[in-house]
Amino acid sequence: MSMRVRFAPSPTGSLHLGGVRTALYNFLLAKKNGGAFVIRVEDTDLERNQQGAENNQLADLAWLGIEADEGPNNPGDYGPYYQSKRQDIYQQHAETLVKEGKAFYCFLTDAELDALHSHENRQLKSPYRDTSLEEAQAKIDAGESCVIRFKNNWDDRVFQFDDLVHGTTELAGDMVGDFVLIRSNKQPVYNFCCAVDDHLMAISHVLRGEEHLSNTLRQLMIYDAFGWDIPQFGHLSMILGANRKKLSKRDDAVSVKDFVSSGYLPQAILNYVALLGWSHSDGEEKFTLDEMISSFTLDRVNKSPAMFDRDKLNWLNHYHLNQYRSEEVAQALQDISSSPLLNDTVWFEQFWTLIGHQFHTLLEVNDTLAFFEQHEIRDKELLLGEGRDVVTTFQGILSNESNYSEEAFLSAMKATGEQMGVKGKRLFAPIRVALIGIQSGMELKVIGALMTKDQVLERINAALLVG
Ligand code: GLU
Repeated sequence: MSMRVRFAPSPTGSLHLGGVRTALYNFLLAKKNGGAFVIRVEDTDLERNQQGAENNQLADLAWLGIEADEGPNNPGDYGPYYQSKRQDIYQQHAETLVKEGKAFYCFLTDAELDALHSHENRQLKSPYRDTSLEEAQAKIDAGESCVIRFKNNWDDRVFQFDDLVHGTTELAGDMVGDFVLIRSNKQPVYNFCCAVDDHLMAISHVLRGEEHLSNTLRQLMIYDAFGWDIPQFGHLSMILGANRKKLSKRDDAVSVKDFVSSGYLPQAILNYVALLGWSHSDGEEKFTLDEMISSFTLDRVNKSPAMFDRDKLNWLNHYHLNQYRSEEVAQALQDISSSPLLNDTVWFEQFWTLIGHQFHTLLEVNDTLAFFEQHEIRDKELLLGEGRDVVTTFQGILSNESNYSEEAFLSAMKATGEQMGVKGKRLFAPIRVALIGIQSGMELKVIGALMTKDQVLERINAALLVG
């Protein structure tokens, strides 16, 4: 049987780091082994579904470069790939279990359920679990509301499986009660849909976060009731935030959308996420997606929690950004920037060649571009007294320069220093303020190279008016 894995997002919000990792590891596993990577949208929780969330999540995955072999946008032989379009399948399967006595109609009201929970200190065993089908049918015909529950007869059984990450894992059957398969509004619940779909979609490996471990127990019971073979399960460890608590959407900006707006590249995010719980056998940390595919193995997936470390993400983003050619950077910047300088390919290439190496994120690139677009004098006080004289002298020398170049700019500065008897900061800071508004932050020779003589003189004129 060939390998088939899936990523099964619920459209209840945006795609976060944990989801990216689950998607990536499944994707790498499939690609490494010539298998299929399937996307299935688990949208049966009507109350929690958010309008448009699935399309946003699918777009985020595509932006990252994680493309499905089968899924909502490219259906294969196992569709539909939205659970909301598979309701009949779940209903039919639930009825099969009811007929076989492995599930039952349960008529407990919410109040009765609450009363049972407060009286009994164990998982629910419904009083309707042995009600005959005829009796149940009569109640349904009389208009009574009911759910379909799984009949959990496994209080004394321990379910054992060989977890792909954690090894032999045991889950006691009495950790759950008679759990719901189909709600009273006919909506099936996640655990039921998931087990039915993983079986019908011939999923061979289920790799997901360890928060699903208790679901795995319910799903094992469902597989067992149908007599189906179980897939190989693997549960990925938690991702912790800087405070060593589970990474929280509130404390850390960790959605793909946040990463895009903060200027991270898809390659860097994937590279970073790959290392959140997996390591290369020879310690290598920088990879392209193809390199990750060829080196990914489950035996190097770590059991212990991973720590989100923004410095490391920045380091990897710096690395991948520096692999980009200037036109690729300009293209990537379109997501967050509307700078007209991106369209000036010659200028932008020079900019990138001169200072590209210093940036960690596209946001930093964009902030630096702003210096060449706007001219806001922030450190005004440096354009008073001696500073003003320095700038005026520099202006005079430079305007007499007939062949403007970076060298001419630098020699005009040197001549200014000699003429005024100043050097170092006393010379550089006022000129920098006149040209980019602040006293430090960009090398003067870079400014000289990236501005024309007219721009330099225009900026000096404007600055002297403000200062
Ligand atoms: N829909 C579930 C979630 O978003 C996925 C569970 C699974 O992978 O089985 O958490």
